[in-house]
Amino acid sequence: MMGYRHLLVDAVQSVNPDDPGISIMEIERLYGIPAERIVFLSRNENPYGPSPEVVRAVSRADLSRYPSQDEFLSAAAEYLGVSEDLVIAGAGLDGIIDSVSRLFLEKGRSAFIPVPTYTYYELAARLCGATPVLGRNLREIPKDTSLTFICSPNNPTGGLIDDELLREVLEGTDSMVFLDEAYAEFAGVGHAEWVERYENLIVGRTLSKAFGLAGIRIGYAVAPEWVAEQYNRAAPVFGISAPAIAGGVAALKDPHHMKSAVKRILAERERVAAHLRTHPSHANFLYVETVRESSALVRDLLKEGISVKDCSGIPGSDNHHIRVTIGTPEENDAFLEAYSMVEEARSSR
Ligand code: PMP
Repeated sequence: MMGYRHLLVDAVQSVNPDDPGISIMEIERLYGIPAERIVFLSRNENPYGPSPEVVRAVSRADLSRYPSQDEFLSAAAEYLGVSEDLVIAGAGLDGIIDSVSRLFLEKGRSAFIPVPTYTYYELAARLCGATPVLGRNLREIPKDTSLTFICSPNNPTGGLIDDELLREVLEGTDSMVFLDEAYAEFAGVGHAEWVERYENLIVGRTLSKAFGLAGIRIGYAVAPEWVAEQYNRAAPVFGISAPAIAGGVAALKDPHHMKSAVKRILAERERVAAHLRTHPSHANFLYVETVRESSALVRDLLKEGISVKDCSGIPGSDNHHIRVTIGTPEENDAFLEAYSMVEEARSSR
């Protein structure tokens, strides 16, 4: 039965698959809580969803033809105020991280990853056969690094890189820099236009977060022209579906919907943060320090129908942090109530 297993490449055998976390269906099955009562705050999704224009556009997409990305690339260029020649797209920002990794990483090369951060970078690097170098300090990028990942606002901490440090990194390293701005709309700042000045900078964005389109799978990036020209060598030509392209265009053309969702989420973030021991966040989630061990706390919250992310599996974090997505006011209240119950009940014993 196992006669062909040795054919799996070494890189595949070296990775732990990315943990998607428990799903709504699993919570329903394991804890007997009906789906409509589950408060799902573990994947940094946007509770307000996409603009109605998106839903209309998706339903009109031509499903019989292979899609063209052109309209999406031009909508993304216009949204960010950069030249269309610099925009690349993929099936979610994860799809872009995959393809960009394939452009710059292979066996014998390394990627620098300041932790704690988004865990997919390490996986993507390993799958290319490269060595992920996990560090703490962006001022200490090893000399032979091919690709440096920076996440700002950072998942899971919510922190933002300051412009001075980013400039120092871009000018001081010989590596390519992938700046992941998945949560930029919540921070109100972005660095897409820096790509016009730095030949080693790629800035990634997504429609999964502020635009509420996590289920459709579309992301994009701004890359120097010389990278954008090479991108299609590493990315599938028809990697993004026609409905995703149609929905993505409609979303980018209706920024009012996105801005109003962001405004509500930010107001809630401040309200929720006031009740917790947390770091200042520039995204739609909070990195919360817990008294009890996070894995046990998260399990007890699940029993109450509340799902948040246990950060103990994230390299560079520890076993006393959870990441909580900001939901609707009702969801946040349900979380706060359950949290104070499961945290205080046990810690005061
Ligand atoms: N980067 C970061 C920092 C993220 O948190 C996520 C989503 N979890 C992604 C990229 C991937 O987003 P997408 O849905 O566009 O693949």
